[in-house]
Amino acid sequence: MSQGTLFDKVWDAHTVGILPSGQTQLFIGLHLIHEVTSPQAFAMLRDRGLTVLYPERTVATVDHIVPTEERSRPFADTLAEEMMQSLEASTAEFGIRFYNIGSGSQGIVHVIAPEMGLTQPGMTIACGDSHTSTHGAFGAIAFGIGTSQVRDVLASQTLALAKLKVRKIEINGTLRPGVYAKDVILHIIRKLGVKGGVGYAYEYAGTTIEAMSMEERMTICNMSIEGGARCGYINPDEVTFAYLKDREFVPKEDKWQEAVQWWQSLRSDRDAEYDDVVVFNAEEIAPTVTWGITPGQGIGVDEALPAIERLPEGERAIAQEAYKYMQLTPGTPLQGTQVDVCFIGSCTNGRISDLREAAKFAEGRKVATGVKAFIVPGSERVKQQAEAEGLDTIFQNAGFEWREPGCSMCLAMNPDKLQGDWISASSSNRNFKGRQGSATGRTLLMSPAMVVAAAVSGKVADVRELI
Ligand code: SF4
Repeated sequence: MSQGTLFDKVWDAHTVGILPSGQTQLFIGLHLIHEVTSPQAFAMLRDRGLTVLYPERTVATVDHIVPTEERSRPFADTLAEEMMQSLEASTAEFGIRFYNIGSGSQGIVHVIAPEMGLTQPGMTIACGDSHTSTHGAFGAIAFGIGTSQVRDVLASQTLALAKLKVRKIEINGTLRPGVYAKDVILHIIRKLGVKGGVGYAYEYAGTTIEAMSMEERMTICNMSIEGGARCGYINPDEVTFAYLKDREFVPKEDKWQEAVQWWQSLRSDRDAEYDDVVVFNAEEIAPTVTWGITPGQGIGVDEALPAIERLPEGERAIAQEAYKYMQLTPGTPLQGTQVDVCFIGSCTNGRISDLREAAKFAEGRKVATGVKAFIVPGSERVKQQAEAEGLDTIFQNAGFEWREPGCSMCLAMNPDKLQGDWISASSSNRNFKGRQGSATGRTLLMSPAMVVAAAVSGKVADVRELI
């Protein structure tokens, strides 16, 4: 076992060899696939007469294109139906496990793999989706990959990658009421920038992270990619092991203890050397909302929008572009801005703990007139659990729509789309221009609790006032 950070240990353990390019050929323990980035990869495989090398290490689900209201087949959208049929055919042809709609385990790929215990510490994981970094919450090294790399992993179970530097991001202290993991990661990206992590893996540490549940840790790691980092991870600990114990794909009985010992040995050593260390104080973090067109353009909800001249020079042009697109004015408060749509869901914040927290604020309140508000559970299991707890009733009584699992309006590759220049208060992870289905649609990223605060007041609001 090599010494150093968890990243070094996992990387070394999965290194097949060093390629002439200087890149590492890295073995991938788990390959997650979905309907959007896999059809072309399977086609390339067939063109070259190749097969899937390790179908048992490949797991498929359908999430991006799934309608969240009417899921009967064929889908009304013929392109979505084609993608669906293509994935069904490819998984059957190559013997790949597929969690289809109605299987009881379908959902957003980054939600279902952890909930089944497919995601485990020390693994290398790849998926044709940027937010694969989510799985790092378990102490896995997880990369989002492009379509040609999906082909490579299907055919060889390996990836050619340059080794990353490691930045330790330490967050210490207790989060104030109304402040969540989403606020922590938005704050980190605001401070370090959307390109701050380029060339790095982010290791999140410190007492704030240690006190977080696995679902909160997933929210943090999920958005590593928005800070420019190729992956993000957290050292596995008792919280990780308690979450994983007895899930269907984790080792059982004697093998469980062996696995825990192995996972513990992967933790970054106390004297591990990092390429960079950054420290944050949790008590300084407020409920955070993005106002612009990158996830780094965020402010505390009680702050005024930044004046262009007060921003670092390198950020001024994009800020100007953002103000124009978002139709907002520097120096004015963001709080009080009217919203049209409120969306809770996505691989960042569509898990059961997100819905429980949101329901606490929705209970006994009503969605403001004229606001379209909807909840999209991250998976069929999340939906079932939420319904068993009566959360669906709480949301529906408050005027939220209760939907079927999928990516929904995170990316809007399905019927859930903004219209015109609607403003959306969204628990998702990207606020790029046009991200939520309208070329002029505007997205404000925030925590699920803050989305409820926006829904019931009809405008950007401070959730702390509802506590
Ligand atoms: S919820 Fe959004 S970010 Fe997550 S996998 Fe789906 S489209 Fe990608």
